[in-house]
Parts: sequence; C-alpha cells; structure tokens
Amino acid sequence: MKAIRRFTVRTVLPEPLRPLEELVLNLRWSWHHETLDLFRAVDPELWEAVRHDPVKLLGEVSPDRLAALAADRKFLRRLRHDAEDLRDYLTAPRWYQSLADAPAAIAYFSPEYGITAALPQYSGGLGILAGDHLKTASDMGVPIVGVGLLYRHGYFSQSLSREGWQLEHYPPIDPNGLPLTPLREPGGSPVRVTINLPEGRHLNAQVWVAQVGRVPLLLLDSDVEDNDPAARDVTDRLYGGGTDHRLLQEMLLGVGGVRAIRAYCRITGHPAPEVFHTNEGHAGFLGFERIRELIAEAGLSFDEALEAIRAGTVFTTHTPVPAGIDRFPRELIHKYFGGDVEAAGVPVDQVLGLGAETYEDGDRTVFNMAVMGMRLAQRVNGVSELHGRVSQEMFGGLWGGFDLDEVPIGFITNGVHADTWVAREMLDLVARSARGGWAGAEALPEGEIWRVRRVLRDRLVRDARRRLRESWRQRGAAEAELTWVDDALDPDVLTIGFARRVPSYKRLTLMLRDPERLRALLLDPERPVQILIAGKAHPADEGGKRLIQEIVRFADREGVRHRIVFLPDYDMALGQMLVQGCDVWMNNPLRPLEACGTSGMKAALNGGLNLSIRDGWWDEWYDGQNGWAIPSADGLGDADRRDTLEAAALYELIEDHVSVMFYDRDSSGLPRRWLEMVKHTLASLGPKVVSTRMLRDYTETLYAPAGRAARVMAADSYAGARALAEWKQRVAKSWPGVVVDHVETSGAESPEVGARLTVQALVQLGDLSPDDAAVEVAYGRVDESDTLVEPVYRELVDVETTENGRRRYVGEVPLDRTGAFGYSVRVVPRNPLLASRTELGLVALPSAPHGMTTGDLR
Ligand SMILES: *Cc1c(COP(=O)(O)O)cnc(C)c1O
Repeated sequence: MKAIRRFTVRTVLPEPLRPLEELVLNLRWSWHHETLDLFRAVDPELWEAVRHDPVKLLGEVSPDRLAALAADRKFLRRLRHDAEDLRDYLTAPRWYQSLADAPAAIAYFSPEYGITAALPQYSGGLGILAGDHLKTASDMGVPIVGVGLLYRHGYFSQSLSREGWQLEHYPPIDPNGLPLTPLREPGGSPVRVTINLPEGRHLNAQVWVAQVGRVPLLLLDSDVEDNDPAARDVTDRLYGGGTDHRLLQEMLLGVGGVRAIRAYCRITGHPAPEVFHTNEGHAGFLGFERIRELIAEAGLSFDEALEAIRAGTVFTTHTPVPAGIDRFPRELIHKYFGGDVEAAGVPVDQVLGLGAETYEDGDRTVFNMAVMGMRLAQRVNGVSELHGRVSQEMFGGLWGGFDLDEVPIGFITNGVHADTWVAREMLDLVARSARGGWAGAEALPEGEIWRVRRVLRDRLVRDARRRLRESWRQRGAAEAELTWVDDALDPDVLTIGFARRVPSYKRLTLMLRDPERLRALLLDPERPVQILIAGKAHPADEGGKRLIQEIVRFADREGVRHRIVFLPDYDMALGQMLVQGCDVWMNNPLRPLEACGTSGMKAALNGGLNLSIRDGWWDEWYDGQNGWAIPSADGLGDADRRDTLEAAALYELIEDHVSVMFYDRDSSGLPRRWLEMVKHTLASLGPKVVSTRMLRDYTETLYAPAGRAARVMAADSYAGARALAEWKQRVAKSWPGVVVDHVETSGAESPEVGARLTVQALVQLGDLSPDDAAVEVAYGRVDESDTLVEPVYRELVDVETTENGRRRYVGEVPLDRTGAFGYSVRVVPRNPLLASRTELGLVALPSAPHGMTTGDLR
C-alpha cells in the first residue's frame, strides 16, 4: 500500500551529542574534512551505507551506538572541538571585513544550487557555480544572502535500461530529512510568501533556510497546504513542465525571492542587501519586484525606480546561443503582470518594454529574460573572456552604433571551490610542500605528486567498479555474469575522464567517430588507455538519450568493457571522484558554445591535465604547456566534416602525445615530463581557477561599485534616482539635435611617428549643455575597410562657442605607431552616474566620410 503522507522523524540526540546537530545543520561540512571525519566516526559502516549524508546518518544510527558515543570521552572531546571550530569560522573577521565602504549585504539569486550531492537541487554547471559562489563567500566573509527554489523532486536521478536507454527517477525529497530549517515568524508560525495570480488565485510558498557556512540560502517551496494543487506543483522539479509552469517558477524565484529576503531581514535583523546579483536570466523578475516596492513605498515613478534598482543590480549571463535564451510569449507576461494582479501600480507596458527585443531581427512577440536582465542591471558580465565577446555579439543590437568591444558586457571567468573539489591528499600536499600555495607548486616533489595521483586513481577505479556492478544489477544482470567487473579498469592505466551534461554541443560521442581507432587506443598493448564517462541528458532530450545509448552500447562490448565505462547518475559525488582520479580531463564542445566550463578546472587543481577544444576558460588560459588544445575547425560550415576533423585531431593527440608522455618513465618509474606538466598546471592554473580569485573579481569590479552607485541613487530620498531618470529622458529626447558638423586636423601634412595631430570638431549640442555630452576623438590602426581596430578614445576640450551656436572642441592625437592610421570623432552622453559612456546606446557620429581620414605613416 502507498502511504498518503511521508515525513521524517528526527532523532533526538542524547544531551552530550547535541553539538552534532549544529554541525549537521550547517552545510560547511560539505567542504570541511575534519567534520566529515567526525561523522564517519559516528558509525563508519553506516557512513558508507548512507553515502556520506550526515542527516541520513543521524536518522539511522542506532540508539545503542548513540548511547555509547555519549559516554565516549574521546569522541566528545573531538565533538566539542569541531563545534567550537565551526563557531570560530562563523564569527572571525575575514577578507571582506578589511574592505572599506563595501556593501552591507548582497543578494544572490539562482534557479539552482549545487552544494552537496545530499541536496540534489542542481542540474549542471550553473548550479555548481552558484554553490561554489556561496561557499567561497562564506570563506571570504562576503555577506551574501542566497535565494533559490526548493524542488521537491530536485533534478532526476539516472539509471540505464538493459538496452542502455536513460531512465529517470524522481525520488521525492522531504525537507525535514535535509539540513534545512523553516524560516519562522517571531511567533513561531512559518513565514509565507504570497504572489497574486489571475482569477483570484494565489501562489504561496514557505521558506527554508540552508546555512552554507556563514551564508544563509533561502529556498522557496510551494508545496504548502494553502495552495491549490497546481500552485503546489510549481516547485515540483527543476527544469520540468511547460511555459506557464516555468514562468510561475521564475516569478516565485524573482518576486517571491525578494519578499523572502525582506522577511528574513525583518526577522533576523540581517542588514538589507544593497546589491542584487542575478545569476542567469531566470531570476530576473527580482528587479521588477524591487521597482514595484519603490513605486509603492517611496512614491517613485517607474523610470525613477528603475534607475534606483538598476545601479545596484548585477546580471551574469551564461548562455552563448540565442536558442538557449529564456523567452516567454508577451501575452503570458501580460496575463500575469497586467491589470491589477501582481503589478498593482506598475504599468504593464513598461514591464513588457523591459523584455522587448527592440533590435533589428528581434522577435516582437516575445519577452526576453536576458534582455530584461540587461535593462535591469547596470553591470553585466559573461563567464569567460571568450563568452564575454560572444555575449557582446549576441546582445550588441541593444547598443547599435557602437563597436562590439564597446558593448558594455564584461566578463569574470568562473572558478571552483578548492576545498569542495580537490582531494584531501592533494590539498595537504600543496599546503605542506608548496610555499606560496598553488603558485609555488613547481617546487613540489615529483615522487610525492605521483604517489598521490596513484592513490586517487586507485580510489576512482574501486568506486567505478562498485558503480558498474550496481548499474549492471539494475540492468538485470545476474551476479554470476558480473565477475568481470572485479577486473574492469586498472589503477595503473592512463585514465581519461569525460563527464558533463549531454546537450548536443558537448558532443559526447565525438570519441566514437572512428570506433576502430578508439578501440585500438583502449587496447594498445604497451600504452593502453581507459575512459570513464558520465552525464545526464535532459529528460525531454531524446537526441541526448540516443547519444548516451550509443556510448553505452560501445562500452558494453566484451572486448572493451574493461577499458571504457559509462557510470550512471552523474552528480557532485561522482564528479568529485572523477576530477580527482582522472589523469586527463577531456572536453570537446563545439566552439564557442561552452560559456566557461568548470569541470576541467577541478581536474587541474587535482593534478589532472586538460585535453580540450579551446573554448570557454581553456581558450583563455591554455599556454602550450599546461595540457593540450584540440584544434577546432570552427568556422567550417559542414558540421559533419568538422566532427571528422576534430575527432581525428583528438585521436592523434592521445596516440602521439598524451599516452606517449604518460608511459615514458625514468629509472625510478616516474613519468618526468608528465609530472613537469602537472606541476606547471598546478602553478599556472591554480591561482586563477580557484573561486577566491573569482569572488575577489566580483567584489572589486562589480559588487563594490554597484553598492556605491546604489547609495548615490538612494541618498536624500532617492534624489539621485530622480535626477538620473529626468536626465536620461531629457538626453534621449534631445539627442536627435546632437550633430558633428565638421572635423579638421592640422599636423598631418607629412605624418611620421612621434608627431601629433591637432583635431578640431564643430559640434551642435541642441538643447544639451556641454556637461551632458562628451566629444571624443577615436584613433588607432585601421583595416582595409577603413574601420578603426581597437581604437583609443580621448576626450576633446570645449574651447568656444562660434557665432551660430556651434561649439568648437580641440585635442591632440599622438601618432604613436607606423602603418595605416585613422581617427574619427563622436559625441556620447556624459554623466558621472553612468557605468560606461555607451550605457544609453546613444552616439552621434560625423555624417560624411570627411570626418574620417586615414593615412600611411612611416
Ligand atoms: C563541475 C560540474 C559540472 C559543470 O562542468 P562543465 O565542465 O561545465 O560541464 C556539471 N555537473 C557536475 C556534477 C559538476 O561537478
């Protein structure tokens, strides 16, 4: 019989063991090895059986065992020590506390979070990044409050059918059986966040707090009894359901998330966030809710409220393909935000305007969440240098008239949380032997590195065998058929890992392009290779499931099954095993569709070497000696031929370089050249790929300036926001009257290096004053089509007003290079409250070609 309700009965711990609860409820254990050791000591066998989930451990440990521990003085001493260590960790000042004038708090919104395998609220890189962001914030003392949704079925868990087809399971989670506590009003009742829906319906949610070290993570959960059945299901699963469902999830995350933060701050006294960070477009409605608040509470107009919130909003985009952008039909937005439903007091046309694709070839029927993100955030970034450029191209239409590299989208390359992803043995080795941390890794003793690598490879091989056996049992194999599994894989064979989600651009099956060649690689008698593969296809992606089946069918073959395995149910726990144990981390996406990619960073920190297409982070930091770059045939129109070429390059690299170097041993059995590369990887990539570098970048270049800008806007009852909104309106209205009439130079008669040109421009400013606009000369190298390449901009000085109301601007251009050189002049809006001069998308350029002159300098 099926139960009609399920719940988890919490263990009542004996008094002396109470601090265990404190330790379990703070997710710091997910990256703190001593605490994990303590949990193991509670019951080592059970610890393995519950797959390192401490809440399950405490739920299942026997009362006898608890009684014994409560009388075990050595255990109690350790417990006291670890609990005190946690309290110190939570209160001692850290890096952020040394900054002056930094935001009092930062809200971070993300649709998914990967914090530990025991909290399956993530599907891939986006969620893992969000989890690493919060953990790092905790370590560095950055006062972030995280906001997300609690999905009752999380993301699915994966198994295989006999035929190798992906099967999905959605085991329900019970928040009471997770390290979560409900947010309660001072009177004890659970907090309710409510969103009004059309036709008198409501979407209610309760709020769970997951404590991630110092950082509270608020998770909204619509599975409450006061909701109708449809509303209850809003947070049923991650990335499931149709368009309406997705919109409701995003409303709950954005709008409900802001309300959850308000409740949290009111109840706990936590300072209100000054900066709001939108991790991917899905959370974008948070800006809209903050506009609504300011209209209702501060009496601002829509435009004024927009300026007030925009200054303090940061938007990170993660999607390098237009098809991947989150869009809704406009009618749907109208339905949920129109009338006086949710948006009472906010004109729906202005809401719709935020997500309108106003650029050429934009679709006028959709509401685009990324475009809304850009309009609601004064600061926008991609997640690697290459992805920043791709984003400038994708969204450049919003700033038509400017060169691509001036489109105000920057980048901060992702990083990974070392304590989560790096094997303890490797962390210890670096801490013990490398003075100066990662950067000092060149000095690590090679024998020691090799010893650690062997330990990690061996651990991976054992874990993979266990998983393989379990998977075959699930697929219906009898125990007697599985004796081969004991000898599958080898802890001394070159081990290549390939694990990731399975969208088509990641090309899971590229390695199968030439099956015979792959087979020969695996079975090479002198230099064998083994490959471990894992990945989930989105449940609706039949194509992805076919790719998995192709791989599984190949790996099922008797001749190769000991050298190539597919391990089902890729999650953080399996990910940790793989990035720690593999010698080589392979990645072959279709460039430039991998926005960043982070799994290769995790491998690098463990002393693995990357073998990858130059995409995402690898395009930026591959230096010729820290791994291998698979040549990409991007730009080739023929996708099939491109696959063939790139696969051939991949095989060749493995055959002629990777495996040769791995098996090239000296008299003491060490692969010297290999270990040189490992050391160079640790030293060159280590300091860059760690998330402390990432969070420092976010704090210094985005959070701190955004916090300052938000304060300027809010000061004096939002006088700054009112003034900026008024100014923008005036400038936009007057801009058609801004004209560059005439440009002339002197000093260019016989141009040579070291000379200076004097540039003069006659400009009409219409209704604007010289304070409202800057006149700039742009100069530098020009290409064959007379386009300035990476021009330098320099402001010209306003010297006089001529008789017919035009203004004369003058400045100098240094001729600092030989060859083709050119210059031009432009007028752009100027205001100290803008983050960049391109922000408004307004520019006036000389109309006739005489404004541009080029010459050949010697
Ligand atoms: C790191 C990680 C990812 C993201 O890796 P990519 O290189 O971006 O594919 C996805 N899933 C899990 C479980 C991870 O640990």
